[in-house]
Amino acid sequence: MATRVDPARVAALKEREDAAFVAARPRSAALWAAGRGVMPNGVPMSWLRTSYDHPPLFIESAAGSRLRDVDGHEYADFNIADMSMFTGYGPAPVVEAVSRQVALGSQYLLPTDDSIWVAGELARRYGLPLWQFTLAATSANTEVIRIARSATGREKVLFFDGKYHGHFDDVLVQLEDGRLVPEEDGLPRDVTARTVIVPFNDLDALERALASHEVALVITEPALTNNVGLLMPDDRFHAGLREVTRRTGTLLAYDETHTQVVGPGGLTSRWGLDPDLVTVGKSIAAGIPLGAYGMTPDVAAVLERPAGRDDDKPQVAVGGTLFGNPLSMAAARAAMGEVLTDEAYAHTRRLGTRLADGLEEVVAAAGLAWTTHRFWPRSGLSFSPALPRTATEAMATLDVPLRRLVRVYLANRGVWDAIVGAGPTCSVAATDEDVDRYLAAFGDLVGELV
Ligand code: PMP
Repeated sequence: MATRVDPARVAALKEREDAAFVAARPRSAALWAAGRGVMPNGVPMSWLRTSYDHPPLFIESAAGSRLRDVDGHEYADFNIADMSMFTGYGPAPVVEAVSRQVALGSQYLLPTDDSIWVAGELARRYGLPLWQFTLAATSANTEVIRIARSATGREKVLFFDGKYHGHFDDVLVQLEDGRLVPEEDGLPRDVTARTVIVPFNDLDALERALASHEVALVITEPALTNNVGLLMPDDRFHAGLREVTRRTGTLLAYDETHTQVVGPGGLTSRWGLDPDLVTVGKSIAAGIPLGAYGMTPDVAAVLERPAGRDDDKPQVAVGGTLFGNPLSMAAARAAMGEVLTDEAYAHTRRLGTRLADGLEEVVAAAGLAWTTHRFWPRSGLSFSPALPRTATEAMATLDVPLRRLVRVYLANRGVWDAIVGAGPTCSVAATDEDVDRYLAAFGDLVGELV
């Protein structure tokens, strides 16, 4: 069985599909031209341009599981804004709660009772008793690192190769031929000084890295879901990680920003994990900006120093005027209370399984040795006979031209596919018809490829 398809065939189809994409979207093209006069890359965040190689879509509206662009094309959305719209677009309880709260005042810099409900619900879901809020997962991770440094008196942070935890200095570092280098431009020259990276699923490397007791915090997704597609942990990985972090006095944080879609409490709850901290963001408030981090009472002690304290320890550097604002809290209460229910997770898991079954059938019928992802609502493919275990293995199987072809081919057939880190994922609003549409378009593509 083959793992690679003919690159010349991929290139020819890509050229045809790119031309069709552009021809059918004159309004998006005109808006992009106007955007380029006032925004770098013509879009509100220049990096948005780097997620795709086809021209950007401009969006008119969205409802449920469907996006509608300014040229009138409707898409079944399996990217769901890099999983931040897992609730689907415009769920009625969130629309109602947010409309009510914005009229009453979107920010007071004083708490509302929604914050108590939301913190309590996150505690129930993730099993950590105390919570704080930010505006995004990135800022939750930034705060958690500072808290860990304060709690341990150590400076370094350990990540696993292939990670993504947001855009902040400590994490924008990668392994290149065994050496740590800045991932992008514009970072301080010594950005690698406080970061340690070891391969995922490598407990021996982890043991060696923590042995000198210099690492304040290990932060990881329970399964890596970003630059590497999907890396699942070996059976003993999380138990080993917890044991060695405890033995070396290192704090352990799970970043559930993506993995929260597997059920209430994310993989922490599904797999019975026992971290010191958990971070989340994206879909907890149905796409209204909110990040959160939960912690044990031991960790929280560094935040609970009173204002008129009598010790000489400085306050931990956490903060942000709009963090944990009443509008975000109202959205999170409605989202978790009325949309992200047990039934909703069961529905998305059923659809995710259907999508995985369908992909597996198409791939097997074409005689391709590709592996289907099975991750609750999320599916996808590794272009390899087995799921990779490390970032190095994952990168070796990442066929970028093929990925790009899949995306534009599906877009031309009313399917908005996921970027590499997001699935395809079925939202709470997704339907069997959406899954059918995905599988039909993907089946047509594979039919043309082999
Ligand atoms: N952590 C993880 C695991 C993520 O996948 C992401 C975004 N892809 C982030 C953090 C950062 O989220 P945000 O950009 O919303 O701050």
